[in-house]
Amino acid sequence: MAIQVLKPKYHVEECLEEIRECLEKGWTGLGFKTVAFEEKWKEYTGHDHAHFLNSATVGLHLAVEILKKENGWKEGDEIITTPITFVSTNHAILYEKLVPRFADVDEFLCLDPEDVKRKINNKTKAVMFVGYGGRVGKLKEIIKICKENNLKLILDAAHMSGTKVDGIVPGTWDGVDVTVYSYQAVKNLPTADSGMICFANGKYDEICRKLTWLGINKDTYARSGDKGTYKWKYDVEYLGYKDHGNSIMAAIGLVELKYLDEGNAYRRELVKCYNEMFEGNSKINIIKAPNEDECSFHIYEIEVDDRDGLLEHLQKNDIYPGVHYRDNTEYEMYSYDHGKCPNAHRISERIITLPLHLELTKEDIKHIADKVIEFVNK
Ligand SMILES: *Cc1c(COP(=O)(O)O)cnc(C)c1O
Repeated sequence: MAIQVLKPKYHVEECLEEIRECLEKGWTGLGFKTVAFEEKWKEYTGHDHAHFLNSATVGLHLAVEILKKENGWKEGDEIITTPITFVSTNHAILYEKLVPRFADVDEFLCLDPEDVKRKINNKTKAVMFVGYGGRVGKLKEIIKICKENNLKLILDAAHMSGTKVDGIVPGTWDGVDVTVYSYQAVKNLPTADSGMICFANGKYDEICRKLTWLGINKDTYARSGDKGTYKWKYDVEYLGYKDHGNSIMAAIGLVELKYLDEGNAYRRELVKCYNEMFEGNSKINIIKAPNEDECSFHIYEIEVDDRDGLLEHLQKNDIYPGVHYRDNTEYEMYSYDHGKCPNAHRISERIITLPLHLELTKEDIKHIADKVIEFVNK
């Protein structure tokens, strides 16, 4: 049977039970399960605020938009970001007519603090940090740099559901202004499409809740104190969007959250299995995680000389790996910074994402690793 690189595993019957509740109640939209899921997520992570969204992409955009608006950033101001990420991360910066300024990645494929320091100039307003594959990288150093230079810090935690460091969720660390999670189907906490935005500042959370529902301010209605009669009598404070999540997605999220730690622990076992097979092989560089025992390991990568050859070899064996990610400065719209991040550029040609998901057994992992070793040793 074909082995895919990423694949969601749902607890189907339980999900259907939660969804049934929504359908029977006739409440599938904002409120009800979305509120319940926000509360559970806050409890699980320790975030003070959490707002459920229809994707992490819109969350990253809202994070940039709100920080820009509230801190008086101008068009053309810069956010330092990583070239090794899904394009959502960097599109979010462009949506607000700010400039993604690319800094290089370190051995964890997260932003390298030394290069971040070099890329700071008088237009720099923030740093966008991606917890690559659930790895925290050198986030603590990045926080320090942001504090010293009065920069905001956005954490793209799309891969980080369940990641901890000494039992603490990194997004809740002092100095992280906003953390955005993804619950897209192949992420560690799978729904179909949804996400969560967690601001440290309660005022920003309030603004965000208005922005995700067309900019509508429900206070007018709340003030009327009349049970629904004046529901239409709201004010519209912002040119907002339709970005909030719905109760069907939240229903799935509520179920899958219960299995997140168990799933991540299993991912770590599979990662250990890969590592044991590859360790000591000079042709293979394993991309490590500093928080190895508490990492969500959304993806597992190795670095090899002939990446494209290995991709082909695995495909011939019915194994379908991936590449996370191509150096974003290779894309036309980000090409202005091409060549400024040599490590990212090199890695972009050499990394391969091997299958890692909850349907795989240790035997599968050994089989995949055997095929990898067979190719690199030949
Ligand atoms: C998946 C992903 C996103 C976007 O998440 P969606 O919920 O699909 O919008 C953003 N950043 C990274 C690093 C991702 O992997």
